[in-house]
Amino acid sequence: MSIDFDALPVRRVPHHVAETADQIIANIAYHEAGHAIIGMTYGMSLAQLCVRTVDIDGYMGWTGTTRWNICYVPHFQLAVELAAGEAASKRWMTSTGMSEHTAARHAASPHDRDMAIAALAESNYTVTTDGTEPANGTSWARAMDAADQAVADAWQQITATAKALIATPRHVLTGAEVAALTGITNPPPAA
Ligand SMILES: [Zn+2]
Repeated sequence: MSIDFDALPVRRVPHHVAETADQIIANIAYHEAGHAIIGMTYGMSLAQLCVRTVDIDGYMGWTGTTRWNICYVPHFQLAVELAAGEAASKRWMTSTGMSEHTAARHAASPHDRDMAIAALAESNYTVTTDGTEPANGTSWARAMDAADQAVADAWQQITATAKALIATPRHVLTGAEVAALTGITNPPPAA
């Protein structure tokens, strides 16, 4: 399927746990690096990922975005790529000593799940949230399990990307920069 990711809205990431700006930025950086690395692993063409400040009802908040060039990817892989942000954030929080239960709760990204449901419904691929496995589709839980595994397999590259994203002053990395950093090929945009 083909999705113009630029047409999708910017998400706002809730921050229930992170207390300092550095922790908030790190959490979003790992979330976005999870999307970016798993998508690239599946052959998606990465445009850029970033962490940036946003105005939320008069308060300064942070958000992150991973932008893709128009590309083609199997339905289930798209669901896993969208689940990989939450999976990477969860794994990072667990690595800082948080319990798995708490990390799972605080990493939850309903926006990505809703995006998967809406984007894949357009090509008649169903993503369920009640645990049932549809004939042409997947449960979100199965996509999340696959994302947990994919993130574990690519943890070194995700960590390298998140650290670089945190370290670079404007918190922006291009697909070419991520490819150079990780050794993963960033495919050219589909014609
Ligand atoms: Zn996300």
